[in-house]
Amino acid sequence: MNEKFLSYLWKSRCLHTDLHTESGEELAIHHPGEQNTDSGPDFFNSRLRIGNTQWAGNIEIHVCSSDWYRHGHHNDPAFNNAILHVVFENDKQVYRNDGTELPTLVVKNHFPAQILDRYQKIMSAMHPIPCMTQLHEIPQSCLRLWAPALTLERWMLRSENINRFWEKSGNDWEEIIYQHIASCFGFKINQSAFELLARSAPLKLIRAVCVSQKNTEALLFGQAGFFTGTFEEEYPLELFHIYQLLKNKYTLQPLQPGLWKFLRLHPLNFPTIRISQFADLITKINANFFRILEPRTLAGFVDLFQISASGYWNSHYLFDRPSSASPKKLGPAGKESLIINGVLPMLFFYGTMKDRCDLRELTFELLEQMPPERIAVIQIWKNAGIIAQNALESQALLQLKSHYCDKKRCLECRFGKEILVGSSKSLKNP
Ligand code: SF4
Repeated sequence: MNEKFLSYLWKSRCLHTDLHTESGEELAIHHPGEQNTDSGPDFFNSRLRIGNTQWAGNIEIHVCSSDWYRHGHHNDPAFNNAILHVVFENDKQVYRNDGTELPTLVVKNHFPAQILDRYQKIMSAMHPIPCMTQLHEIPQSCLRLWAPALTLERWMLRSENINRFWEKSGNDWEEIIYQHIASCFGFKINQSAFELLARSAPLKLIRAVCVSQKNTEALLFGQAGFFTGTFEEEYPLELFHIYQLLKNKYTLQPLQPGLWKFLRLHPLNFPTIRISQFADLITKINANFFRILEPRTLAGFVDLFQISASGYWNSHYLFDRPSSASPKKLGPAGKESLIINGVLPMLFFYGTMKDRCDLRELTFELLEQMPPERIAVIQIWKNAGIIAQNALESQALLQLKSHYCDKKRCLECRFGKEILVGSSKSLKNP
């Protein structure tokens, strides 16, 4: 038993209705009050009737009544207004600061046992989604209704992250768009390496040297640390020589090549292919990264990412290692990922900073027009019966998994409420 669970019972009105205080007086709860997440009593402005007296005030909740003294509430004036002590076990009579007895309600055996049983099962489950075996009870409408709020939560957190980089960049919008989009070209596995690459080749440098896709590739591959060995083929040799000139001219320091991960990646996702595709994007938009935010339709954003690795990569995945020929265009999943994780969060952040609600709303409208992400976490939800219909809902499920399920915040979760309380409604008032 814990206080969080007891607070949940109180807040969700899960207690039986035939309640009495420990002194035997009838207790009716008119309103549980507002939960306080700061210091002080657990609920403010609760309204009750004890015996024939109507009360309005604060509620304190503990597992054992003796916790009142253990927590030092008897010496704290913030608790003088308490009107009821809600406990699981009454092991000590409690008195307020002024010496009056604080009415006590013992909730043990006064709520549906099924709620505790289900809660304990979820808390001890080892599944990636702890309530997995109960998810079939959740109506799809629950996700439909909650998705916008969950996705908003996720994107507000993303905005905070972008904001930190934006402030570091001296509020340079184009630099931050460039860096953010570059990090998304790492597609999670190589995200940090791409971040470091963009920092080691800032937009000013890109603009100064990138007159062609070849020059851009030379700079990016060189700074990525790919030119530490020797080459036999003409193309990498040419890039190597271009980079040597740039390195001397701008006193560049390349990254460690060991930063890049190839293991267990499909060759089409190798960082070599992604760097060349990124160079194509830079060339296509002429290193003007505001153009990334310009389209206002999904088709416009998709068109922006009609990009491809340069010709050399048609027959290679690595330098000096010829492979069977296939063009290395950015595929549909790559485009969707860059739009969902790169462009739209940046547009959302831009809309927030410029006080443009229309742009923020547009990002959510576009998410609704996109298919759900094809990633492992979304597949886990799907297998458990929760099916995202679009990218807004897949973003919501990602937020739910990482910020609720992984932290076992089931008592704050709408699915959790359905599972714990929804199923026990018939038992609520026996
Ligand atoms: S947070 Fe919600 S969805 Fe996740 S395990 Fe708990 S009840 Fe289930």
